[in-house]
Amino acid sequence: MNILVINCGSSSLKYQLIDSDSEKVLAKGLCDRIGIDGSAISHQKDGGEKVTTEVAMPDHTAAVKFVIEKLTDPEVGVVKSLSEIDAVGHRIVHGGEKFAGSVILTEEVMQAIEECNDLAPLHNPANLIGIRSCEEIMPGVPMVGVFDTAFHQTMPPKAYLYGLPYGYYEKHKVRRYGFHGTSHDFVSKRVAEILGKNVEDLKIIVCHLGNGASISAVKNGQSIDTSMGLTPLEGLIMGTRSGDLDPAIVTFIAEKEGISTQEVINICNKKSGVLGLSAGFSSDFRDLAQAAEDGNGQAEIALETYAYRVGKYIGAYAAAMNGVDVIAFTAGAGENNAQVRALVGQYIGFLGTNIDPEKNKVRGEEVILSDEGSKVVTMIVPTNEELAIARETLRLVNA
Ligand code: AMP
Repeated sequence: MNILVINCGSSSLKYQLIDSDSEKVLAKGLCDRIGIDGSAISHQKDGGEKVTTEVAMPDHTAAVKFVIEKLTDPEVGVVKSLSEIDAVGHRIVHGGEKFAGSVILTEEVMQAIEECNDLAPLHNPANLIGIRSCEEIMPGVPMVGVFDTAFHQTMPPKAYLYGLPYGYYEKHKVRRYGFHGTSHDFVSKRVAEILGKNVEDLKIIVCHLGNGASISAVKNGQSIDTSMGLTPLEGLIMGTRSGDLDPAIVTFIAEKEGISTQEVINICNKKSGVLGLSAGFSSDFRDLAQAAEDGNGQAEIALETYAYRVGKYIGAYAAAMNGVDVIAFTAGAGENNAQVRALVGQYIGFLGTNIDPEKNKVRGEEVILSDEGSKVVTMIVPTNEELAIARETLRLVNA
């Protein structure tokens, strides 16, 4: 079965066409600047060159049309016609408390997703537009929604409640939801497969360290806590997001700088994290690691602060699960950046991780980093959210 995986943002649309039998990516690409001047589609077929075409894409429906054009193109395409696309899997950011798993997208489901728009005002409307556009261009093709929040719906109230008046939870559903669920789910299951164990017998801490970053405590195959909250702003220090803050800082900065609280929140989302800590140098861990090595003190401060926060969360989640068997690093920096892993390693040795500096040099591969016989197995497990969405789509379409 050929499954088209769609990840729709407010002005972008990422796609992959995956053959579910071989789990091979047949083609992938990105429509960028949708609805803005200078929109373009970059498309790459397996084994081929990336081709970028500048085309006017006034809306997401136009973008989906170009995706289909590329996928069926005699030269750069991989299928003959639309009829060879058997199903579509959509990444959806927020499912609130309504969705604890993936679902076939029906009109009723779409309405329920729309009711979660308040919780993710930038993301969910864009996801819905992507679904509607696919419906228009590919009528009758089954579609599945896979939620970033669903995997974390197993968290107990003590993990998802904030220390706020309970009425805010009852009235407005203010609680921790967590994100990157598809990745935390995929990686924790893969950990068990690699180790030849049952995920239900393991306590796993998954460190998803990408541009956005989150960490989760997965006990017996279920998420019991995670660092992102009502929104993806909470938790770890990220590329451009601040992570945990004293909430009083928001009004304090607003008053001092003469800006609105919404502007402060924007700064917390877009100008903070390692970008902010490095005094605007970079949000990219490759740049920061190189600069720190070259003696850039501000880059060093950013990396140290970042790694310290990750280390603290690992300690907290080991306590939350009353122990830990495996710590898995994943996503861009977690998979590729030896320096970040080594810095985090400084704080978690007491758990019995024994990270071997030689093995830690590995990039982007499934590898066990800790010495044999270590009390806690530390490993790299590359994530693959698109494949996880394709698998979920296949499972539901075949059900
Ligand atoms: P993601 O959001 O998962 O794509 O991760 C993006 C982050 O991963 C960026 O900060 C990159 O600097 C980092 N990253 C990606 N590839 C590498 C690499 N080869 N070496 C070091 N860091 C990397």
